[in-house]
Amino acid sequence: MSSLPSLFQDQLNLAEHGFLKSVSEFAEREVAPHAENWERAEEIPRAAFQAAGEIGLLGVTVPKSLGGQGFGYVAYALAIRELSRHQAAFGIDIAAHNALATGHILNNGNAAQHARVFPKLANGTWLGAWALTEPEAGSDSGGVQTTAVEQADGSWEINGFKRYITLGRVADVLVIMAATGTTEKGRKEISAFLIDKSQIQPTRKVPTCGLRASETSEFKLVGARGELLGARGTGQQAALACLDKGRIGVAAVSLGLADAALAAASKHALNRKQFGKRLGDFQAIQFMLADSEVDVRASELLILQAAVLASKGVRHSIESSAAKLFASEAASRVCNRALQIHGGYGYTRDIPVERYWRDARLGEIGEGSSEVQRMVISRALLKDAEVMFEGAR
Ligand SMILES: Cc1cc2nc3c(=O)[nH]c(=O)nc-3n(C[C@H](O)[C@H](O)[C@H](O)COP(=O)(O)OP(=O)(O)OC[C@H]3O[C@@H](n4cnc5c(N)ncnc54)[C@H](O)[C@@H]3O)c2cc1C
Repeated sequence: MSSLPSLFQDQLNLAEHGFLKSVSEFAEREVAPHAENWERAEEIPRAAFQAAGEIGLLGVTVPKSLGGQGFGYVAYALAIRELSRHQAAFGIDIAAHNALATGHILNNGNAAQHARVFPKLANGTWLGAWALTEPEAGSDSGGVQTTAVEQADGSWEINGFKRYITLGRVADVLVIMAATGTTEKGRKEISAFLIDKSQIQPTRKVPTCGLRASETSEFKLVGARGELLGARGTGQQAALACLDKGRIGVAAVSLGLADAALAAASKHALNRKQFGKRLGDFQAIQFMLADSEVDVRASELLILQAAVLASKGVRHSIESSAAKLFASEAASRVCNRALQIHGGYGYTRDIPVERYWRDARLGEIGEGSSEVQRMVISRALLKDAEVMFEGAR
């Protein structure tokens, strides 16, 4: 099985190596023993997030001056991968907190807003959630129906309903995308707002197929008060920029799941005997393992490419989309093969392989479905092709 490739190692500095070592120990000690209980309880205790914060997992890329670690996106992706090997629900929560909520505030907040949320948001004292999705706004983020209206005192009143929001009910601060008017081109003007947890009315934790311990929430906003995050009308653009980083996190969650599933499948192929031979002696099983190994290695490289560009501050929308598209679909394939290799045992809840399989499915949906990633990639490809072939017409 692929261990940490030297290509990844080469991208890390000494401090990042130390951080990843502590993440690995944390995952073994604080996550692995509790993963099944958290899955059954459909909840991760707040103390686990606090402990994660103490080793820097809640402010991985936040600058040191604001109380974060100031690490790059390769270290970030590897940390999320490591957590997700043990529990993807924890991995996705930590990823959403870092790349979406914290990332949005970091990139668009003013000094006063930064002073209000940091270092709490980077050290585990506070959790953040990021709310774009609504019943009418899924793949089409322009469908936002939540509205925000400026008040005489300069604050904004927000009314609407948000669904499928990771950490929604437990977050201390939330980033909310809301319609604030109409643009000159007649499109909906979308702005981002920073609100406090006291401003939401939680409706429920949504029962999900996988990632059950993750807090996937719905909530209402009724006369909620918030302040603009970034300039009016820049919310949709800022949200899409956050998703470039967010998709690296989802890809890393997928990779962690694929790692766990492939390890379990390989072990079972060595231990289980049928027809007087180990399963691993049958070519049908060997080929499934080989295909899974290639899926893992290809995912690693696509994630590395996107993460290196993100760390350099270079535009990486296509690379993030490609990494997320490939790694999420690859994880579903790897988890499906792992379940098949385990036979009936794989279908039981006695071992976590069925959990990996259910958890992996979210990667193909959240933060832009596979279809949306294909739209992002093909649009860019065709735009380039138009330029390239213009002269040939
Ligand atoms: C566990 C979980 C956690 C989440 N966390 C968050 C969060 O923290 N914050 C947040 O804002 N959102 C979150 N989401 C929402 C998530 O990002 C959306 O579910 C996702 O973007 C898809 O939107 P949708 O569910 O409305 O599906 P829809 O947009 O209704 O899409 C349904 C299907 O139609 C396809 N489709 C749609 N449009 C097209 C098209 N033009 N061409 C081809 N196919 C198309 C889609 O690919 C999909 O297969 C979360 C969702 C889940 C399940």
